[in-house]
Order: sequence, then structure tokens, then C-alpha cells
Amino acid sequence: MVLAALFNSTIAFSQTENFVKTEQNSYSNDKPYQTVTVKPVKGSKVKNVILMIGDGMGLNQVAAAWVVNHGHLNIDNCTYTGFSRTYCANKLITDSGAAGTAMATGSKTNYHCISVDPQGNKLNSLTDLAHASGLKTGIVVTCNLPDATPSVFCAKNIDRDKEEEIAADYLNCNVDYIFGAGRERFNKRTDKRDLLAEMKQKGYQVFTNWEETSKVKQGKVFSIPMEGQLPLARERGDMMGKVCLHSISLLNQGSKGFFAMFEGSRIDDCGHFNNLTQLMEEVMDFDRSIGEVLKWAEKDGQTLVIVLADHETGGFTLLDGDLKTGSVEGHFSTNEHSGIMVPVYTYGPGAENFVGIYENTEIFQRIAKLLNLKK
Ligand SMILES: [Zn+2]
Repeated sequence: MVLAALFNSTIAFSQTENFVKTEQNSYSNDKPYQTVTVKPVKGSKVKNVILMIGDGMGLNQVAAAWVVNHGHLNIDNCTYTGFSRTYCANKLITDSGAAGTAMATGSKTNYHCISVDPQGNKLNSLTDLAHASGLKTGIVVTCNLPDATPSVFCAKNIDRDKEEEIAADYLNCNVDYIFGAGRERFNKRTDKRDLLAEMKQKGYQVFTNWEETSKVKQGKVFSIPMEGQLPLARERGDMMGKVCLHSISLLNQGSKGFFAMFEGSRIDDCGHFNNLTQLMEEVMDFDRSIGEVLKWAEKDGQTLVIVLADHETGGFTLLDGDLKTGSVEGHFSTNEHSGIMVPVYTYGPGAENFVGIYENTEIFQRIAKLLNLKK
């Protein structure tokens, strides 16, 4: 019942065509969470890469979350930083489809494209190439799976709005661990196909709740606990961090390493809605997941962790605040994305390769090189 109620409220939230501008410009947090401290990794071998994408998470969003958490973020453990330019092939201000395609495939493409070039030709993504090289692959997101960012790693389509076509591509993506929402695109389809049954035939263990998923010890996983979106951070609790660690425990069973993409998907929605409270809660949830991943990566010693954004959302500016009380004042200048460069934070072996100012396509190039993927 509770989940059903949440589901309804989040559905209303996800309908971006009906913006309700909140005009909210202040937020205060009296319960900061404990951050972790990890030591820099000494070795240089990159066996695994974990790419963590904060959708719409610009530098101001990170700076504000740092104030709100009383001057501490897990992200601060990252040892190197850089900037990524986000414009796409036919627009200065990108969407998540084109931005994700650039990072997943190394090619700038048109607005709303999903891992195809501007002519519609299919492009190989990091998950395709990693799988072909014998690595295990995984994606964990807090949005619906046919949404843009997860889709650039699991589908090819010239139009991100073709969500049923995109969902069908998941059958052939070869990704070993898949977690996200949007179940209705898989089993309540206009073509009557039951993609959940088809995923089972493809060898996936298919789950419609997290509790059952969390018990799995090996094999391929397709977990889709909800229709629509997952609930927002306040209701999700620490689910995101737990799913990330669970996926790592399965992906790390291969001898050749793994590539995983974890997305704090709903930071972007909160930027679109200019909702500062929800924005801060989503960034902090993402940062708590980053803490879990960094602790694991420190112990592992062969894992490069990259934390970045695909673009900024909301034109958010941090205007004032207080580190002692965890309060901030801010301003949103748009309901849409903005064109500013976004920060890239890295930790682990190979982290030094992400210093500087570069195109978002370099994310693909540098990961592919470090993992020795054949293009
Ligand atoms: Zn995005």
C-alpha cells in the first residue's frame, strides 16, 4: 500500500511536461551523515571501472550538498578532478541521451539519440565492448530503465521517447546485472510481449522486488522492482548503496574484471522541478552510495571510480549558506538543462588520467584505453 502511494506520487513528479515551479530557495539539514575516509590506492593496474553518473549534478549542486552536510562529502575522497564539456552534435544544451551516448560510445550525437550517431547508425557502448572483452557489466539506476542514461548502455535508438522499442533492446544488451524501474514497459506493452519472461529465457534471474534480488549470490540479474520511477531518496532509504554493493559482489566474480555504471538518476528531476529540498536529498543519497563504493574500491585496490555528471540541470546557483547549521540559499535560473561544463572526480588506479578540460567523449576514450577494450 505504502509503495503504491509512493508510486503514484512519483509518477506525478516524473511528468516533466507539467512543471510546478516551487520557487523554493532555502534548505537546512540538522542531521548530517557520517562520511568515510579512504586512502589513495597505490597500485596502477585497472581491473575494474565503476562510472557513477549524477544526472544533472553540476558543481553548484555538489557545493550546496557539501554545505548541507556540514562540510563533508564522500566525493571529497577523490584524488583527481577534471571538467567535461557536454554540448551535443546539434545543440549547445544537451539532453541525457546525447550526453550519455558521448560518454558510453565516444561519439557526439544529436539531441535525444540513444547510442546511435546523427545518421542513426548504431554505436558500440562501453558495456558492449567490455562484454566482448570478457568483462562482466552492470547498470544500477534510480529511474526507469528505458530512460536515457541507462538506455545508452543497453539500447540503440534514434529517439529516446521510443521507450517500448528501447525496453526490447534490453534483451540483447548482454549486461550481467541490471537494476531499475519502469516495469510497465516490459510487461504491459502495446505489442503484448512479456519481456520479463523473455529475459528469463535469456538466462536472467528476473525479480520484481529488491528483497528477493538481494539474496542472489551469482549469475545474471534483471531486477525491476517498480513501474514508473523508484521513490525519491527520502523513501528509498539506503537502497541505492545496497544495490551498488550487491551488483559489485556478483560482477566481481569474473576473472577479467568488470565495468559498471551507477546513476543517481533523480538529481535531474529535482533540478527540473526547481525543488531544492529534494535536490539536496538526492545528491546526498548519491554521495552516500559513493561512500559505499569508495570503501569497497579502497579494499579492492584495482578499481577506478569515476564520479561525474552528464550535464547540469536547473541553472542552480549557491548564493549563501552556513556550514555549522547545514543551511543553504540558492537560485534556479531555468527548468531545463544548462550549458556549463561539469565536474569529473576520480579515485583509484588510473585516476590521474582524468585531469584537465576535455570533451565528454573522452570519458569513453580514456575508460576504453585503461580497460584495454578493442573498439
Ligand atoms: Zn541527464
